[in-house]
Amino acid sequence: MNSSNDIEYPKKILDYMEGFLVSKFEISNPLVSHLQSMSSADIAKGLKTSVDGMERLLMACVGLQLLHADIQNGEALYSNTELSRIYLTRTSPKSLFHSIQYNSQTIYLCWHYLADAVREGKNQYEKAFGVSSGDLFEALYRSDEEMITFMKLMNSVWNICGKDVVTAFDLSPFQSIYDLGGCSGAVAKQCVSAYPESMVTIFDLPKVVQMAKEHFVSSDERRISFHEGDFFRDPIPASDLYILARILHDWTDEKCLELLIKVNKACKPGGGLLLIEALLNEDKSGPLTTQLYSLNMLVQTEGRERSPSEYIHLMEAAGFTDIQVKRTGKLYDAVLGRK
Ligand code: SAM
Repeated sequence: MNSSNDIEYPKKILDYMEGFLVSKFEISNPLVSHLQSMSSADIAKGLKTSVDGMERLLMACVGLQLLHADIQNGEALYSNTELSRIYLTRTSPKSLFHSIQYNSQTIYLCWHYLADAVREGKNQYEKAFGVSSGDLFEALYRSDEEMITFMKLMNSVWNICGKDVVTAFDLSPFQSIYDLGGCSGAVAKQCVSAYPESMVTIFDLPKVVQMAKEHFVSSDERRISFHEGDFFRDPIPASDLYILARILHDWTDEKCLELLIKVNKACKPGGGLLLIEALLNEDKSGPLTTQLYSLNMLVQTEGRERSPSEYIHLMEAAGFTDIQVKRTGKLYDAVLGRK
């Protein structure tokens, strides 16, 4: 509902209009490195920028409460706030740097064609990047560099939401776990850390598995193994539990059902399937972030975000029963079904 203040002076609309200005800040160099009591001139010198440009950038970061400025002898000395130190600096364990980088460099370009996506009802890879999206992940992985940036994006959010989704249900009864489309292995790492008895296999496309082995999962991690394959075309091995984290939201209902039926056939009797997705409210009235993610799925993929009953319906149609839903209160939620 609009407050009468909004009608008098449309602050909300102005904030929305300029939202992209703020989103571009968070990738700026001074924020992503450890910054303590440095003057704008020193920062500009270190980063080889103009002093004037740097000064304006730093001032705005102070306005956004991402830096604070300590005035000494008339000169401002800039340091990260606690928020930017934890979530924006590149090397922090909870860093969102790679999520922000992908949003800023890739998703931002796709969203330029939002109106076309809505008009045509399909993703905009061709216009944004000049590549056909006939094979969605061929388009997403159009170069090794893009693939690794995407994998870092996937990895990054589990720094802040990973534990919540793997502990939303007690998964300790399941010893062998297949993480289908397990990508960089971030969810697999959360599983082996929360469930000391579990063994997790990351199942993903061959080139993703190669990249995960090289850059993301240490060979010392004895409880995580890999399986190269295409979950639509190749057999899925038997397991106690399957995880599909942010997989179904990439695909149409028809493709989701095809995959779920395959998973159900492979699943050991008494086993389970854990979906990890951002859930819409039943009446689609929110949460706003998930509504925006659903638009993003339109612009970037073949899928959509769904409500709990939409996922339950798909899982039941594939043969899963006893389906339970847990909202975590963070970005991603969990749905568990049994065979
Ligand atoms: N589950 C990960 C997470 O939540 O961080 C990654 C989700 S990402 C949106 C989708 C994943 O599915 C990617 O790792 C992608 O390579 C994988 N994928 C897409 N098509 C696939 C296929 N046909 N067979 C196996 N994996 C596939």
